[in-house]
Amino acid sequence: MSDDSNGAPRATGGRAPDVFRSGGWTAMREYALDEVVDFAIVGTGAGGGTLAARLAELGFSVVAFDAGAWFRPLDDFASDETEQNKLYWTDRRVTDGANPIQMGGKNSGKAVGGSTVHYAMVALRMRPDRFKSRTTLGYGADWPLDWRDMWAYYAKAERALSISGPLTYPWGPWRPPYPYRPHEVNAPGLLLAKGCEALGYKWTPTPLATVSAPRGKSPPCVYRGFCRFGCSTNAKQSALTVWIPRALAAGAEVRDLAMVGCIETGPSGLASGVRYHRAGEWRFQRARNVVVAGYAIETPRLLLNSASARHPDGLANSSGLVGKYLMTQANQAVWGRMEEEVRWYKGPPSLAISEHWNYEDRGKDFHGGYIWLGQGPLPIEWASIQTGSRGLWGERLRTEMMHYNHQMGLKIVGEMLPYEHNRVALAEEVDQYGLKVARITYAWGDNEKRLIAHSLAQMRMSLEAIGATDIFAQDDDTNHLAGTARMGFDRETSVVDADCRSWDIANLWICDGSVFPTTGAVNPSLTIQAIALRTADRIKAMAARGEM
Ligand SMILES: Cc1cc2nc3c(=O)[nH]c(=O)nc-3n(C[C@H](O)[C@H](O)[C@H](O)COP(=O)(O)OP(=O)(O)OC[C@H]3O[C@@H](n4cnc5c(N)ncnc54)[C@H](O)[C@@H]3O)c2cc1C
Ligand code: SF4
Repeated sequence: MSDDSNGAPRATGGRAPDVFRSGGWTAMREYALDEVVDFAIVGTGAGGGTLAARLAELGFSVVAFDAGAWFRPLDDFASDETEQNKLYWTDRRVTDGANPIQMGGKNSGKAVGGSTVHYAMVALRMRPDRFKSRTTLGYGADWPLDWRDMWAYYAKAERALSISGPLTYPWGPWRPPYPYRPHEVNAPGLLLAKGCEALGYKWTPTPLATVSAPRGKSPPCVYRGFCRFGCSTNAKQSALTVWIPRALAAGAEVRDLAMVGCIETGPSGLASGVRYHRAGEWRFQRARNVVVAGYAIETPRLLLNSASARHPDGLANSSGLVGKYLMTQANQAVWGRMEEEVRWYKGPPSLAISEHWNYEDRGKDFHGGYIWLGQGPLPIEWASIQTGSRGLWGERLRTEMMHYNHQMGLKIVGEMLPYEHNRVALAEEVDQYGLKVARITYAWGDNEKRLIAHSLAQMRMSLEAIGATDIFAQDDDTNHLAGTARMGFDRETSVVDADCRSWDIANLWICDGSVFPTTGAVNPSLTIQAIALRTADRIKAMAARGEM
């Protein structure tokens, strides 16, 4: 087992990096390894970071672990697409299947704050009847959660993240106005609006987790467009800037560069703590409860890597479903060129949105739906779309890149259905810690292919309606992850219950994107955070009743 190559942990000696001050530190409580803490949380992203903050605020002792580094955006983030690769989970993984999922920055982060450090900040609520898609819409699976309950927690998450969004939202049931005013819509957003209006579809400024006015220590967004490579100003409201500071203030400890290799169980079969690698050695933290929040690939990997004589198939896996029903979301795009300058790099990439084909079911030959959003890829990403999707190299690529400031594009987030054969399992190969790596198998079904074909035709119509030329489709992209430890109604057909508690081991919880039974047609992070807020309240209630 070798050392981690990322360098030395920063959160030691009773202090942790202060993300809001250059070179700054903030006090952090520390727990001894032999102290039995109430909760050991693996992963500090949308799920783990939120839960760490709320559980600490509710009075529980919490130690959270993240395999990634603890960055100070003011010092550590450069306006450089290549430098910022350090935010992604690029450790070895094996991918296969008919449609292998692209790894790295496209789907998962490795940092304190998780994937939210480089997410695009789009903060959406799932369409209510999608929580019961099997019963009400005839496909997928039902969630054991009620949409009204989720609606209440969405509002709490939106307040905590100071979401900047429109006064009224055009789709779905009534919701309160967003806490901050919407951002001014940039040129690609206005072109999206023009295209939608030409087709008779509604559009709106996108609800975003970056502030449109000062908030606490966060300055307002300055529209520099590096959001998906880490926001160096801290306008972005991520787990790193929102939940982790709250967790520390409430007395939680967060250990950076701490890779959890296994959850141990005691003679009773209950979880007894986590074994983790930090600063060159393996250590063991005792805990009354363990929460896994490593996202849809690392969560099942850890559960499977924690197999023992008592749990030969891995933890929480009596159903055999750990790792199964992996989902990603369709992320196809249509690109075109405008006569006028667009300069799409200015501002967050998705400042305008249409959920038309998420809420409209007439005229579809597929289940589910999709949204589309304005785009603003930075130059390296744009060049790789040209090489990857169009096969352009040399002089043709150079000529194409000269049109960068005139480009316009639309991209979907589309629902992919849960299939048992899409899964995460363990490969024989091991990583730098000596742990078996994940093997990720993925194939689109016919429903996905029909959804993608529909969306590409629709986006093309929209670009044609605004006079774009040289239109081309990028038909192979996916983004976001879900599933692999689904929540459900019983232990035979799911891994956790509605409270994210595993059916098999009463003190083992899973609280991240892996609990989704279906993925819906919107970006997932607000739903993950709403579930984490709900889980914290449920844990508090259960503890009060002596059910923990
Ligand atoms: C490029 C990109 C853009 C996105 N844009 C949006 C968007 O606009 N809106 C939206 O809603 N969503 C977006 N997402 C998705 C969103 O970021 C994720 O769905 C969400 O962050 C997942 O939350 P999580 O808690 O499940 O996992 P994460 O946030 O990924 O956190 C998991 C953490 O666990 C840590 N970890 C994993 N295994 C271990 C281990 N064994 N030991 C220690 N630590 C471990 C990882 O290092 C990581 O930090 C985007 C994602 C990407 C990649
Ligand atoms: S556009 Fe706004 S949120 Fe994005 S990187 Fe710049 S300041 Fe941060």
